[in-house]
Amino acid sequence: MQKNQIHWLKSIPFFTIHISIIAAFFIPFHWKLVTLCIASYSLRMFGITAGYHRYFSHRSYKMGRIPQFLLAWLGSTSVQKGVLWWSAHHRHHHRYSDLPNDIHSPIQSGFWWSHLGWVLCSKYDETQWEQIQDLAKYPELRWINRYYLLPGILYAMILFIWGGWGAFIWGFAISTVLLWHGTFTINSLSHVFGCRRYATTDTSRNNLFLALITLGEGWHNNHHCYMSSTRQGFFWWEIDVSYYVLRLLSWIGIIGELRAPPLHLLHTKLLKPFPRNQKPNRQTPDAEELLERA
Ligand SMILES: [Zn+2]
Ligand SMILES: [Zn+2]
Repeated sequence: MQKNQIHWLKSIPFFTIHISIIAAFFIPFHWKLVTLCIASYSLRMFGITAGYHRYFSHRSYKMGRIPQFLLAWLGSTSVQKGVLWWSAHHRHHHRYSDLPNDIHSPIQSGFWWSHLGWVLCSKYDETQWEQIQDLAKYPELRWINRYYLLPGILYAMILFIWGGWGAFIWGFAISTVLLWHGTFTINSLSHVFGCRRYATTDTSRNNLFLALITLGEGWHNNHHCYMSSTRQGFFWWEIDVSYYVLRLLSWIGIIGELRAPPLHLLHTKLLKPFPRNQKPNRQTPDAEELLERA
């Protein structure tokens, strides 16, 4: 049995991209580069939140096979491993949230492990096929899951050819590092800081700041309570940019059957304090089970 430890050799590319952002100091600064960085971040964060998370992990809306592949491709440009690998680990997280089996629980293993340690550990390199049988039937998804680095490498090359080192460093390196840590905060910080509306048996929390930097993923307590919902901000004041874009895509017919949280869940307040660092003592119930309780 492998240990929970970072594989430093395999992690060299991860740290190299972090170090490469120092190059920004040697490139003439221009606000256009900052705009490019933000645009590249937002586009690819959408690939993760609307694609890897809400579509592939939770199947919270429907689309055809071609847009499905394109969304998997877009998510892959964020260099967060394969779409099937990501979805399988995420489903596992929901099944065992904050219990000893949870691979990235800050309550079980601390902040750094939940934030990035587990991603850099060889023990979790394999795709958990038993979790994603519904997705594994598509050969094109198995293919992109296997060659998951291809979209990211092509994306970086296009930026370089188009705009030289400036576009590469700001549009790819800096943007990718921000994208990594932005996504990772949902595994680490959103189980520690924020408010709890629903008495889920994990430690998930709702956090406006995290929702803003992740285009809506910060409403993590809502999400753990009803994970099948396309929208994670359940109320109009809970900003959820990914959902706004998905609504737009549904209006023009690219996607459909967006799922919403049940009305009675919205009108029920299941407030229950959950002290920080307290370990849950039972398996996270399914959404249906929570609904019954609501
Ligand atoms: Zn979670
Ligand atoms: Zn989820």
